[in-house]
Amino acid sequence: MITIADQFGIKEALKQLGIEAINEGTSTGESNFANGKIIESYSPADGALIGKVKTSSKEDYEKAMEKASEAFHEWRMIPAPKRGDIVRQMGDELRKFKEPLGKLVSYEMGKSLQEGYGEVQEMIDICDFAVGLSRQLYGLTMHSERPLHRMYEQYHPIGTVGIISAFNFPVAVWSWNAMIAWVCGDVAIWKPSSKVPLCGIACQNIIKTVLKRNNVPEGVSCLVTGNESGDLINNDKRISLVSFTGSTRIGRHVSKTVAERFGNTILELGGNNAIIVSEHADISMVLVGAVFGAVGTAGQRCTSTRRLIIHESVYDKTISVLKNAYSQLQIGNPLDENNHVGPLIDKGAVKDYLEAIEAAKKEGGKIIVEGGLVEGEGYESGCYVRPCIIEAANHFDIVQTETFAPILYVMKYSTIEEAIAMQNGVPQGLSSSIFTNSMREMELFLSQSGSDCGIANVNIGTSGAEIGGAFGGEKETGGGRESGSDAWKAYMRRQTNTINYGTQLPLAQGIKFDL
Ligand code: NAD
Repeated sequence: MITIADQFGIKEALKQLGIEAINEGTSTGESNFANGKIIESYSPADGALIGKVKTSSKEDYEKAMEKASEAFHEWRMIPAPKRGDIVRQMGDELRKFKEPLGKLVSYEMGKSLQEGYGEVQEMIDICDFAVGLSRQLYGLTMHSERPLHRMYEQYHPIGTVGIISAFNFPVAVWSWNAMIAWVCGDVAIWKPSSKVPLCGIACQNIIKTVLKRNNVPEGVSCLVTGNESGDLINNDKRISLVSFTGSTRIGRHVSKTVAERFGNTILELGGNNAIIVSEHADISMVLVGAVFGAVGTAGQRCTSTRRLIIHESVYDKTISVLKNAYSQLQIGNPLDENNHVGPLIDKGAVKDYLEAIEAAKKEGGKIIVEGGLVEGEGYESGCYVRPCIIEAANHFDIVQTETFAPILYVMKYSTIEEAIAMQNGVPQGLSSSIFTNSMREMELFLSQSGSDCGIANVNIGTSGAEIGGAFGGEKETGGGRESGSDAWKAYMRRQTNTINYGTQLPLAQGIKFDL
């Protein structure tokens, strides 16, 4: 029988990515920070075992941290533009491996092949961004209040950055952090999600060759695998910054633990994103934004559209267009480009999805498009579900909760102020959007009394952000920012310097202290 792995050349892709000993427990090769217990990685596409991975024991973690600390002393002394040049080479290498890495992302995580390639493209883009940034790590110069004094600020590397990533973006989120951290002069220790460990190993293999070629210590990029390393990172005083991407539940624990030791965090947690569909919206545009937002990546994006807040005058029309679109969705193997919706990550996620539908019904939700498990030939992994639409009220407990699955809650509004209040009326604050051709509504939505989210879009869905902007959200989404704009500042420590080039020592605020 021809398997999905055979049909789409997964074995060949793994080989190209340096992952061969799939049944003996692949480690990170020469980095060798993985001699602990073995975990298995299964594809949600077909349920097949892709590989076994050796995780990092406490001793392995310690070795990795020693390597990282040693490497930091050398790496921080390399001029930033030269570090940028090494990151540029990483981008070149990723271009070469875009196809096999994109395939592995798709097969191990279950997102569509197009999205798998898209993730690798995002890594390439962030490399380009970081190269430019390596010549722009600017500080300000201020005027001193004292004569013959000069005052300015400069940014120094912060040290070791711990990156803990979620399963749904197995490679891109790490690169958003690592590439910026590297040009800033930091070293990085990465713990990928244990649901997609092979993607982590593949990236480490690619980066390692570039570091080697440039005679740079391998500790600049360390990989530790397995759940045990999460709390080791949280509690490790040698790690100045922990960039955590994942659920609000685990993020709350990470936040407390790291704060207890006065470490810094970037927290990229759950979202509960809404699109407001105004009576002035172009419904054909809403259709693409809302359907891709709700069912793309099988609803497993932090920016997935979870709620549609629709003006009462266009409610019936919007629902009818959505029902029609949902009836045409093809569910199946994510590597097959004819399919729109792939699997959820595992059976645990399917259970959460089914329970959320039941909870919505119990609270009074009305099913508009029926969900459920998809079974039969081609769906043997047990991870495929039907995207569903439920008419609900914003205050339902289940609507206030992020369920990482293709469930879309729809609700009506009558005034724009009411719609904005509903959009803001959840604990999370990541991404938001309005579809309207009214300038007044658009400006109101973007004003200080508008959306309270980190991302607010007009005539674009909630899902999918560009690397050039600072990415992150407010409230229970954690408040972190990463990727573009001036997010790099979180990866450096700011130092204010004042130099007296006179012969007197005047004190600030005019204080007299005569001896
Ligand atoms: P998760 O919270 O279960 O796991 C995230 C990571 O934390 C994994 O690597 C996991 O192994 C690790 N972890 C588990 N226990 C830990 C501990 N005690 N200390 C440190 N790390 C620990 O999340 P998930 O299911 O992998 O991902 C889905 C969630 O991530 C969703 O809530 C989604 O919204 C969120 N997410 C947010 C963003 C964003 O940018 N805001 C992006 C992607 C995903």
